[in-house]
Formats: sequence, structure tokens, C-alpha cells
Amino acid sequence: MSSAIYLVKGREKSLLRRHPWIFSRGIQKVEGNPELGDTVDVFSNQGQWLAKAAYSPQSQIRARVWSFEKEEINTEFFIKRLEEAQAMRESIIVRGGLSGYRLIAGESDGLPGITIDRYQDFLVCQLLSAGAEAQRESLLNALKHVYPTCSIYERSDVSVRKKEGLKERQGVLHGDTPPDVVVIEENGIKIQVDIKSGHKTGFYLDQRDSRELSMKYVNGKTVLNCFSYTGGFGLYALKGGASQVINADVSQPALDNAKANAELNGFDLSKAEFLNADVFKLLREYREKGVKFDVVIMDPPKFAESKAQLNGACRGYKDINMLAMQILNPGGTLLTYSCSGLMEQNLFQKILADAALDAGRRMQFIERFSQAADHPVDSAYPEGFYLKGFACQVN
Ligand code: SAH
Repeated sequence: MSSAIYLVKGREKSLLRRHPWIFSRGIQKVEGNPELGDTVDVFSNQGQWLAKAAYSPQSQIRARVWSFEKEEINTEFFIKRLEEAQAMRESIIVRGGLSGYRLIAGESDGLPGITIDRYQDFLVCQLLSAGAEAQRESLLNALKHVYPTCSIYERSDVSVRKKEGLKERQGVLHGDTPPDVVVIEENGIKIQVDIKSGHKTGFYLDQRDSRELSMKYVNGKTVLNCFSYTGGFGLYALKGGASQVINADVSQPALDNAKANAELNGFDLSKAEFLNADVFKLLREYREKGVKFDVVIMDPPKFAESKAQLNGACRGYKDINMLAMQILNPGGTLLTYSCSGLMEQNLFQKILADAALDAGRRMQFIERFSQAADHPVDSAYPEGFYLKGFACQVN
């Protein structure tokens, strides 16, 4: 017998608006004995059928909706979702000449808890929820059907799985083991991706559009690329004609990869430096020594993982952006980003305004950025908008 959950009175509202999450406090009654990740029918308090969802008994997000239609959640369902996601991205892939892109962005592509990135013929999956884990066979069969020539690798080595009662997992799911580097191309730039031990699934695909847009600010300029990872913005800066690019990161493997990427693209290495440094300290050192740049790029890791961390995150963003403004030449450009979903765009803009005041500099917002187009935001799930940025002219 299939299981069902009945919601607390009034709690059907968000589902009727097609938001995919059901919180534990919104559930009145559970029928049957659903286990970790099982598919359940969701009913309102009055018994109106609402959705098919995956049950996650250990998580605050107690169920995540697979579908608002009465349909089976099986291989065919996943094939349909994958084909929709691929079709939506087709023109983006062609325009950017992309051999690396995000194929599935979880809730935003109607597949809660599932991330899939493609690097050449390697599909790299993260299964982040109990429902995703329970559907692993169906998903795998669907991927093999839609991408018969691709190998499939799992990078579910992420701590959020604990909240869902799952252990971390990593390894080959189908086909070949990824080589140590897979070379992808975006906007004419080649990038080596380490699928097995790089960050996330190997690369920050979400900054692709911002990297491209950054090129208009760098011609003939000195550029400090903070939190460079494998070069990202620094490679675009070299392509865009920067006179000097310093890439700073604390990860030596990332910096080695960044240098290899600059070589791979045939860029003039005498214009590039790869500095193993803590950005917080480095910015202070530059300020003390009076070292200045024309362009500073600031793309830090997530500062806020939870609401409790948001205040601290605000201080962190204000601090590094203030320092960045202080080491800019008059008329310089700060390209600054926040990938914390909890940091809303308006709040980030206010923090940057405060940072300018503290830095004692006049600042104008001249361009706004967001996550690349293969990271869509479903209209029913505004949480999917997490990456934002600004180009700031600093006088
Ligand atoms: N801009 C990159 C992505 C940056 S991800 C791109 O376009 O691909 C964030 C990076 O910050 C990671 O590479 C991580 O190693 C680095 N990092 C984290 N804390 C740091 C610190 N205190 N100083 C310098 N780098 C740091």
C-alpha cells in the first residue's frame, strides 16, 4: 500500500503555489509506514490530493515534491525531466560553445536534491536528499537512456547528506573512471576540471556568465583575482587584455591547476601570478604597503550556511569589500559576488554601500550579475536565486 501524508490545516497554500518543500511542522498525520526517501501522496487537511513527494523522516524538510501531477516516479519520469532540462539549455550550450554545464539544478529543474553537471562525456551527480538517494536506480537508468555515450560519476561527498540521514558517497556509477583532468571549454577558454577531487563537482560553472561579463573591465588593467580557485576570472582577464593578473587562493592544487589552465590557453605567463595566500591577510598587507590595483575581483566561498550565521557573514562581506575598495586606484572597478542564498541582493547592495563609506570612497553600482543561465530559478522556488554580484566603480 502506498503511504500518504496529511498537512496541517492551511499548510497546503505553499504547495498550491507549487513550492516543493513540506516542513515537519506542517504535517498533521502520516499514513502507512514510509521509509527513508519513499514516495508518498500528499493531501491537504480536507483530503484534497496535492502532490507526490519523497519522505525524509530525519530532515526538517520532511518531504520534497517530485510532481504536482498524478504520475509514477520512475525511470520514465526522470527521462522526461532530463530531456526538459537538456532542451532548456540547448541554446545556451551552443552560444557559449560549452562542453561543461549544469544539467540539473535541483529544485529549480523539478528534481529536488539532485545536482548533475556535465563535463565533456562525464556526468557528475550529487544526490543530496533522501528522495534522491532512494531513486538512484531510476535516475541512473534515465541518465543511461538519455546520454548513452556518457560515463556517470557520483560526488555525494557533502555534509548536507547527514541532515537527511545519509552517508557521504563518491565513485563511478557507470562507465569509465574520470581521468585526473577533463578539459572543458566555455566562451573559447579551456579549463581543466578535476572531477574526482575538485570543489563541488569539480568547477564553479555558476560564475560563467559573470566571468564573461567581467572582461569588459580589464583591458590594459592590473587585476587582483581573490579566491581564484582554478583561475576562472583570471583566465578571462588574461583573454580580455589585462596587463597583470594576480590570482590568490589558499588551495595549492587549485593554484597549480590555474597555472596549467593559463598555459593550456597559450596566455603570456609573465602577466600572471599564482599566489598561495589568505585573502583576508593579503588585502591588509597590500593596504599597509600601499599596493594598488585597477580591478579587484572578489568571489569568496559561502559565508552563511544558516540564518544564525547571517550576521557574521554580513561583517565578513563588509570587511573584505571595504579592504578591496581601499586598494583600488581611483576610477577602479570592484567586481564582487556573494553565493550565500541567505544574503539577498538588496542586503548585499547595502553592505557594499556601507563598505564604501568605511573605506572613505565614492562608489557607484554600474552592473548587476547573477548565476549563469544554466542555473535557472523556478518561479515557485525563489530560493534558487543564490548567486549575485555587482560591478562597482570606486573613485
Ligand atoms: N572564482 C572562482 C571560484 C571561487 S570558489 C571561479 O570562478 O572558479 C572560492 C575559493 O576560495 C576556493 O578556491 C577556496 O580554496 C578559496 N578560499 C577559501 N577561503 C580562502 C581564504 N581565506 N583565502 C584565500 N582563498 C580562500
